[in-house]
Amino acid sequence: MRTNYFDIISRIGAAPLWFDEHAVPRFEPFEPRLLANIYAEEAVLLEIACQGCDQIFHVAITISVHDRYLASEDGHQAHELAEMIRASAIEFGDPPNVDCCPAGPTMNSVPHRVIEYWKRKTPFEWVRDSTLEIPVPARWAASERPSGADDVDAQLYVDRLLVGVSLEEQRDDGTRKRIDPMSPIAAQIFEGITGEKIDE
Ligand SMILES: [Zn+2]
Repeated sequence: MRTNYFDIISRIGAAPLWFDEHAVPRFEPFEPRLLANIYAEEAVLLEIACQGCDQIFHVAITISVHDRYLASEDGHQAHELAEMIRASAIEFGDPPNVDCCPAGPTMNSVPHRVIEYWKRKTPFEWVRDSTLEIPVPARWAASERPSGADDVDAQLYVDRLLVGVSLEEQRDDGTRKRIDPMSPIAAQIFEGITGEKIDE
């Protein structure tokens, strides 16, 4: 659950246009230069919905070289946002907290579609790629799983990415670590959740 930033929202007489990576309300139209993460190398403006009341939000997700470095230090791979979009596995987590409904702010938000995708070419140049501005429905939020043999491999990949994104491993020293979706432990968890065995 995220903080509600009532101190900001109560002082500005307009609805936020989007929310940044920390779910902070923002009031100028989205541009990569307005992102919270000034070192971002990829940026997405994502349409999501509250799981409790279906309110729509536009939220930013970014990844930087520093994020990749931290991921590699933890012994796993940080996936590019472009890859997560293609796998329909990009998520914001809990929605911005605007008290839209009693339970929604405590629940994972439902990803809908990529509104804008940007990649940084140089420190001062962002390039937009409309081919990645596509629907990104989460499998867990779908009422039915798609059928058909062609979907099976993609389905497995998406499910494993989701496992990697949504689960953390508790270490002995009490700290937590994200699980690499392609690791054996992710395969075990996946099997535990879905009952489907993965042939490596
Ligand atoms: Zn809501």
